[in-house]
Amino acid sequence: MLLVEDDDTIADPLSKGLQREGFDIERVSSGTAAMEAPQPDVVLLDLGLPDIDGYEVCRRMRATSDVPILFLTARSDEIDRVVGLELGADDYVVKPFGFRELVARIRAVVRRRGPERRQASNGGSPLRVDGLEVDRRARRVVLGGGEIDLTPKEFDLVALLVTDPGAVFERRRIMEEVWGHPWYGPTKTLDVHVASVRKKLGDPGWIETVRGVGFRLRPSA
Ligand code: CA
Repeated sequence: MLLVEDDDTIADPLSKGLQREGFDIERVSSGTAAMEAPQPDVVLLDLGLPDIDGYEVCRRMRATSDVPILFLTARSDEIDRVVGLELGADDYVVKPFGFRELVARIRAVVRRRGPERRQASNGGSPLRVDGLEVDRRARRVVLGGGEIDLTPKEFDLVALLVTDPGAVFERRRIMEEVWGHPWYGPTKTLDVHVASVRKKLGDPGWIETVRGVGFRLRPSA
């Protein structure tokens, strides 16, 4: 993990704590050093750096890498959050943050990105459940040999559910991951998309409703 933070009073205890949690930490204190560091598996990125600001570091990293990036920010206003996430950051924590919360966020980001990266490191093999095949790199869904024509959001929905067949995904989590983050609005649009995907897959049983909770992809028979 790459920790990019110029403030020693934050970086020192944070590095030690994260190491105790089993993370391998490389710490740098400028944007330039962050760009020159070896490709990490996760980046914790302070926004206020002495040379290049964190937004710019994020933008440049995103140009060449899909590494999970979490912003550490002292600026809590909404605009900054939105801008940060539009740049392709995966999440953010606002200083002063609790250590437990940060560790939970890091683990969540890594977990979310895991299947995509696993597919990438796996020579790009699509994820399969029974006759359903989801290729996240090519953004294609094939069922029984025939390609299914999905809208971008429908694809994202299926691509999320297929990462853990049989596991229930909460409505709120699906909304956050497919429609944007954070999500506080109504989730009716999710039902509309699920109905459409079921129709296109030709069998409503592919996506099971877990009443009051969310949805899951039918696990392998
Ligand atoms: Ca700083």
